Amino acid sequence: MYRTHNCGELRIANINENITLSGWVKKIRNLGGMTFIDLRDRFGVTQLVFNMETHPEMCEQARNLGREFVITVKGIVTERSNKNKNVATGDIEIIVEELSLLNKSKLPPFTIENKTDGGEELRMKYRYLDLRRDVVREGLILRHKMAKEIRNFLDSKDFIEAETPVLIKSTPEGARDFIVPSRLNTGEFYALPQSPQVFKQLFMIAGFDRYYQLVKCFRDEDFRKDRQPEFTQIDCELSFIEQDDILNIFEGMVKHLFKTIKKIDLDNFKVLSYDDAINMYGTDKPDLRFDMKISNMNNIVKGLGFKVFDDSEYIGGICAKSCAKYSRKQLDKLTKFVRQEQIGAKGLVYVKCNEDGSYKSSVDKLYSQDELKKWAEKLNANSGDLLLLLSGDKRHTLNALSELRLEMASRLELLDNNKYSALWVVDFPLLDWDEENKRFHAMHHPFTSPKKEDLALLNSSPEKVKANAYDLVINGTEIGGGSIRIHDKELQHKMFKLLGFTEEEAESQFGFLMNAFTYGAPPHGGIAFGFDRLVALFNGSDSIRDVIAFPKNNSGRDIMINSPSTVDNEQLKNLNLKIN
Ligand code: ASP
Repeated sequence: MYRTHNCGELRIANINENITLSGWVKKIRNLGGMTFIDLRDRFGVTQLVFNMETHPEMCEQARNLGREFVITVKGIVTERSNKNKNVATGDIEIIVEELSLLNKSKLPPFTIENKTDGGEELRMKYRYLDLRRDVVREGLILRHKMAKEIRNFLDSKDFIEAETPVLIKSTPEGARDFIVPSRLNTGEFYALPQSPQVFKQLFMIAGFDRYYQLVKCFRDEDFRKDRQPEFTQIDCELSFIEQDDILNIFEGMVKHLFKTIKKIDLDNFKVLSYDDAINMYGTDKPDLRFDMKISNMNNIVKGLGFKVFDDSEYIGGICAKSCAKYSRKQLDKLTKFVRQEQIGAKGLVYVKCNEDGSYKSSVDKLYSQDELKKWAEKLNANSGDLLLLLSGDKRHTLNALSELRLEMASRLELLDNNKYSALWVVDFPLLDWDEENKRFHAMHHPFTSPKKEDLALLNSSPEKVKANAYDLVINGTEIGGGSIRIHDKELQHKMFKLLGFTEEEAESQFGFLMNAFTYGAPPHGGIAFGFDRLVALFNGSDSIRDVIAFPKNNSGRDIMINSPSTVDNEQLKNLNLKIN
């Protein structure tokens, strides 16, 4: 028998019991007369004691074990004289009477402790050892618990979990497809799903009413921070539903998760239109743990002879509380920050609102004290605050201001990791103009329905049409997004046309869907959440890699199994692919 208990469960109440434990040797301490071993399994750590006087041979054997050896011990539970309050089993130890070695281990390439000496590469190469570390394992247990609560919640709301195929045809979610050559259909390829979008809509046409799936999706994107080529979505679709119903149900799901997993009662989610989010925060995923809104300063600063501002399409500002005391050096650093390539602002204009009511700015020669006072009023500044202004074309300047806002929040320590601020961003534009290729893209995806009241604009000014689309943002991270769908063949057809599909392309790629719409498609809509993101947020991880069991690195490689890799010529020949 390998064990009567696991390594995390023995307590004072078990004293004097004869027990058997199995696990990995975490640590050996050799104190001459006694040898102590910390034995670890998934459930915890238990201290073993080997006594040189009573069992000299076994004690000798214990001393010669190595880290990560797998052993079984039989012994008696006793109370510790030196209790360890930091460990659940810290009140007891096992006086070992029998030791057997189940397997040896090579010396692990890094220490299997929460604070390890292993770098990222090494830990990924030996991920099965990395997964033995408590912090990593706990992230995956959290993932399991969240999946379970999601299933509980959706089941209670009459959702059916149903699977969709993995070998499919391209679905346009805005990224490249991974493709799989078909051996039986020479010269033809499957695509891996970027999402089950079309299938979940077909479930609605089939009358399933409410569907969900925890599903792997695949997107072949160029390097982007914290993206994985395969990731997991909580994918949902509902029939006979309007946008508000969807926001309600899924606000409920997210609150349920916070309540059951984190014991946190989340406030009701804020709702912001896309336009307001952009104008007030410079981004469609604002972090609302802190305020610091952006103000449009055009009316106040333009036309007074400062060429940089006069020539700019847009001038925006933020107010950083209590930062008027910033030194020259700190301000230079901020200027450097906004000038870096990823942010791309040309320069930074600042105004210090001094305690004595005067103003000191980087444009003192150009603006009077009275004028600067107006700036301060516009930005609701008090004495002691610092105003920061950026200018340029509207889109880029707002984006740069949103980055500057985050930077200031981080300097002011306003990004509290134990605080959660959730918000729905709604009323997205339906289309996004691609200047380079002179064509429209679907902002969400081509199946998203325009707002009824904007239908007339589809012909005259499609760029003005708003969509029934929504995103969930928590602490500045996009956690989910979805839309009410088109369920009418003609409208879907028109949408493909607007997106530059020819009649034939639309028919060959999505004819089956438009055809299905003609067999009684109910009004429907849905949403998908990034499950990895959500777990990372709950786990307090910066990277989704921390909560994926076997993640890929930044170049999409699994460095443990060494994939992707070449295949042999025979395999290529069978697939009728070119042999190098
Ligand atoms: N399929 C969409 C996505 O993956 C989500 C949705 O519209 O339900 O982003």
